[in-house]
Amino acid sequence: MRSHSDVVVIGGGVIGASIAYRLASEGSSVTVIERDSIGSHASGFALGLLNPTNEASKIESLNHKSFRMHEDFLERIQEESGVDIQVRKMPHIELALSEDEVADLEAELARIGKFSNFKSTWLQPDEIQKLEPRVSNEISGGVLVEDIIMLDSYNLTLATVLAAESRGAEIAQGTATGVIYEKDRAVGVMMGQSRIACDAVVLALGPWSGTSSLWIDIDVPIVPQKGEIVRVEGFDPPLGFHFHGITLGSSCSVVQKADGMTWIAATSEDGTGFDTTPSSRALESLSARGMRMMPELESHDVVLQTACMRPVTPDGEPIIGRVPGKRGVFIATGTGGTGVLLAPVIGRAIADLVTTGDTDIEISEFSLERFR
Ligand SMILES: Cc1cc2nc3c(=O)[nH]c(=O)nc-3n(C[C@H](O)[C@H](O)[C@H](O)COP(=O)(O)OP(=O)(O)OC[C@H]3O[C@@H](n4cnc5c(N)ncnc54)[C@H](O)[C@@H]3O)c2cc1C
Repeated sequence: MRSHSDVVVIGGGVIGASIAYRLASEGSSVTVIERDSIGSHASGFALGLLNPTNEASKIESLNHKSFRMHEDFLERIQEESGVDIQVRKMPHIELALSEDEVADLEAELARIGKFSNFKSTWLQPDEIQKLEPRVSNEISGGVLVEDIIMLDSYNLTLATVLAAESRGAEIAQGTATGVIYEKDRAVGVMMGQSRIACDAVVLALGPWSGTSSLWIDIDVPIVPQKGEIVRVEGFDPPLGFHFHGITLGSSCSVVQKADGMTWIAATSEDGTGFDTTPSSRALESLSARGMRMMPELESHDVVLQTACMRPVTPDGEPIIGRVPGKRGVFIATGTGGTGVLLAPVIGRAIADLVTTGDTDIEISEFSLERFR
């Protein structure tokens, strides 16, 4: 392990990985501290959907910017790491599962229609059936959005770290236990008895970001939100769309991924702490939601059920920027259900701040300061 790095990034999820890659690409020496293994939490078990059109909130423009950055990012990371990220461009269909949803989805169509890089169309029930006869015949229409991206989020995280390593970054296996300061300037990170000296520290601890409150004297209001996904045997012939709908009161995606399996995603459960035990309740709920959209799923055996945690803030927006009151400390977390999508733009914004003190990416609304 190096005794000094320009920057220490704490957390080897997709956010820490992307920041490390960007910094290493720009010539900084970087150490990533990861206490488990790379991508072993949400970043390794996410659905892997990149769809910037599905969120109309403050983060919308960063979602779109990051999506555009992904095109080049994915190609480079794949080439530099040799890892197949299993990137597939595919159409997305947002299903109206009841007549009541039609007006809302028509409004969505008008909103999405403003994004010139996404072609979107209203589909009548019979048009959806023609495109995919295995969709339930109890639907009221849907919005087709062309060219969203599905990928394997574990392979992406691994590839990003390997590409960072090929540019000189180092991975240190262990638990970060504190930040060392001279006055208010960060000069190192503690890992139990050992320490790594550095000029800047990036906190990318995902759902565990609250731990870092003690290191920076400010509350980092992140809580874990449990999310489960069920993977079942794939369809033959394979599904060619990412289907999404609100069914039985909850959001549900059904998609056949490059691994051949059909993924039914995802639950969102608050108040379960750091528990990542797959539950029979989630299995039942996801199966029922999936079958409402695609009845044939009833005959598909379950292959795998996973559970992991989204890092969420009280206002649902991420935290990206410097830590107030400390020099040389930066934080990137709270990405909720869109961290895989946001990774490239967050990587660039934080790397800009660390290396130049400024960034042209509009992150002022996402500062930690807003919770003070
Ligand atoms: C079910 C589900 C589906 C999702 N689907 C999508 C999707 O389709 N598209 C999308 O864009 N996003 C999706 N997300 C969201 C996305 O997975 C997260 O926003 C993202 O992975 C968060 O990345 P992270 O690096 O912040 O956190 P994590 O992946 O949790 O990584 C944080 C890392 O920090 C390490 N760590 C913590 N504390 C310490 C310490 N003290 N010392 C050293 N290491 C430490 C942990 O071990 C961990 O590896 C999904 C999330 C869930 C739960």
